[in-house]
Amino acid sequence: MKALVKTSQAPGFEYIDVDMPTIGPKDVLIKVKTTSICGSDIHAFHSSPGIMHLMKLPVIMGHETCGEIVEVGEGVTNLKKGDLVSPEPHIFCGVCYYCQTGAALNCQNMGLFGISTDGAFAEYAKIPESACWKHPEGTSYELGAIHEPLGVAMHGVMAGEINGKSVAVFGCGPIGLFAIGASRVFGATKVFALEIAPKRLVMARQLFPDVTLINPKEQDPVKTIMEATDGLGVDVSIELSGSPEALKQTFKVLKREGRVSLVGILAGPVELEVHKDIILKEARVFGVFGRVVWQTWWQVRALLDTGKFDPLPVITHRFPLSDFKQAFELATSGEAGKILLFP
Ligand SMILES: [Zn+2]
Ligand SMILES: [Zn+2]
Repeated sequence: MKALVKTSQAPGFEYIDVDMPTIGPKDVLIKVKTTSICGSDIHAFHSSPGIMHLMKLPVIMGHETCGEIVEVGEGVTNLKKGDLVSPEPHIFCGVCYYCQTGAALNCQNMGLFGISTDGAFAEYAKIPESACWKHPEGTSYELGAIHEPLGVAMHGVMAGEINGKSVAVFGCGPIGLFAIGASRVFGATKVFALEIAPKRLVMARQLFPDVTLINPKEQDPVKTIMEATDGLGVDVSIELSGSPEALKQTFKVLKREGRVSLVGILAGPVELEVHKDIILKEARVFGVFGRVVWQTWWQVRALLDTGKFDPLPVITHRFPLSDFKQAFELATSGEAGKILLFP
C-alpha cells in the first residue's frame, strides 16, 4: 500500500510503498477514509525538536483519522467489520499506574499512533481495539477525522470551569476555532480570540460573529483585554499558538485566581515572570497533552449532539495523499483551516 512515511531526521516525508499492516488478536484493521493534518504533523514535516524526540523512525505519519473496519482480530469483542472508528492516538497499556488510576492519557508505556507507531497517512491502518472510538451511524468521514483535534480543544477548554467565565483564546488555527466553539457551547460569556494570520482572522469572524477578535500585530492584546474587562483580565486563558510571546501574554491577561491551559507546542524554553504572573495571582496552570481518555471523547460527542456548533467549516482544503507536499506547504503558511488528505 502507499503511505506517507517519516524515514529520517531530515525535514520532509516520503510517499512510498510499504507492507500492509498485520493485525494481532486484539487489533482491528481500518480502511482509511480520510486523515487530517495536525500541528504536530507539521512540526514533524519540518523535523522541529518539539516533536522529534517522541518519534520512532521510520514511521507512517497521521493520527487524526476516520476509517471503516475491514478486519478484526480473533480476540476483538466489541467491534465488527463495517464499524466506523477513529483511534485515540495515545495508545495506552491498560495496566500501568496511570492507566489503573484513570489517567490513561499519561500511560507510562504509551505509544503515539502516527508518531511512535504507524499511523493513518496510508491506505490501511492497524489500531488496538482498546484505542478505538466508535462513531454513531451516519457520522461523515470528515467529521470522524476531526474528532481527535476537537478533543484537544475540548480538553483545553474543560481543564477547569468554563461556564459563566470570560475566556481568551490565543491562536485561531483549527484547534483555536474548535476551542472557541466549545467555550461558547459550554457557557463561556465574553470570548476574546487572538490571531495574526489574515485568513484565520476572517474565518474566526465568519464562524463567531460575537467574539472579540484581536490581531496582536495591530493592537496590544494585553491592553485591549484589560480595558475590556474593567482592568481585571479574563477567567480563563488558553494558549494554542505555540508562540512564546503569546504564552507570556496568556498570563498577563489572566485575572487573579484565573486558569491557564497551555496546549500549543513550543519549540524551546520560554522565560516567564513566575512570581508576578503565577504566584501573586494564584494562577492555576494546566498542561494539556491530548485528550482525557475517554471522558473528552464523550464531551466532543455531547458538543456535537447539541447542534450548536458545526466544526466542519473549519476544514478548508482537501488533497490526495500523493499531493502531501503542497498540503504541508499550505498548512505551514497558516493560510488554511484543517486540511484533509485522502489515500
Ligand atoms: Zn493531532
Ligand atoms: Zn499504561
